[in-house]
Amino acid sequence: MERLLHISDPGRRQFLKLAATAFAAVPLGSILLPERAAAQGQSVDPKDPLAVSLGYACDGAAAPGHVEGQFCKGCQLYSGTVDAKNGPCALFQGKLVCSDGWCKSWVKRAG
Ligand code: SF4
Repeated sequence: MERLLHISDPGRRQFLKLAATAFAAVPLGSILLPERAAAQGQSVDPKDPLAVSLGYACDGAAAPGHVEGQFCKGCQLYSGTVDAKNGPCALFQGKLVCSDGWCKSWVKRAG
């Protein structure tokens, strides 16, 4: 174990320096941006190309192809709370979808 923690090896020291430099070079904002955007409540634009391709609509019941009983709040990819107005979706990183929304990628929430 002691041997694993020993950092006097020049190669390991070089690696640690590079790793520290690389971490410092990544702007913190770029790491936090998706979460920040979601926290600020930027909703998915229904005209967004991904939203259009998936047939997403905030009013899921009115979306063409909507299947009764399927809404974002019951989707495996939705990570908001069921009683919230909106929440994050794994497909729309950093944006919020309506809890009563729907798209063609709906997957029944497990459990
Ligand atoms: Fe809503 Fe699920 Fe489609 Fe995301 S993948 S927009 S949570 S139905």
